[in-house]
Amino acid sequence: MNCLEFRRVALAEPRRLEAEAARHAEQCDACKEFLVRALEDEARLARALRVRAPEGLRARLLDRTAAARRSRGILALAASLLAAVAIALVLAWPRNDPLALAGIDFVVFEEAQAILEAKPADPGELRRVAAQLGVALPAQLGELRYIGPCPFQGSTGQHAVVKTAFGKATLMLLPDRPLASRAVASAHGLEAVVVPAAGGSVAIISGSSRSLEHIEMLLKSS
Ligand SMILES: [Zn+2]
Repeated sequence: MNCLEFRRVALAEPRRLEAEAARHAEQCDACKEFLVRALEDEARLARALRVRAPEGLRARLLDRTAAARRSRGILALAASLLAAVAIALVLAWPRNDPLALAGIDFVVFEEAQAILEAKPADPGELRRVAAQLGVALPAQLGELRYIGPCPFQGSTGQHAVVKTAFGKATLMLLPDRPLASRAVASAHGLEAVVVPAAGGSVAIISGSSRSLEHIEMLLKSS
């Protein structure tokens, strides 16, 4: 499901998202915010439409049996509880870290171009930057498919594409970006984790959370 399809679905029935739409909202920050707005708009509309009923109608309604009133009350209560739960779920989704998100944007919008324009790979430079960061790149990481410098957020990092047993992953060695704690993001069907290193940080971006975990574990244990 793409963003356009998601927004059509979310506009029509923001409280009744199918699994596919819910998955999209989990992975796409922009659509997640769109959903929150759609839920808010729906609640506002519902309030605005709650007009005062004419007196006669009100009396007739009051004549209805207590049982009918009770069941309506319970239904309304259930509906508002459901809406509260839906909004709480939306708000509880982890916020994307800007640096991790920038890593995903790099992979989506710039990685292919960087590989196209690359000069011959220099594994020595990758090793030098890894040493500067204080991380080792063990062979168990997987097959290195690409190595090259990458302009990233105003400085230059080392960019590597790895083929792990679980799929493709991108590693960005960022010597100029010290980090206090691990940061995560997910967008465009990709996940990113940025882990602090002794002399900067390392961003790992992949469409497979298993390959992300695999690399993070190897970087930690090295
Ligand atoms: Zn989207």
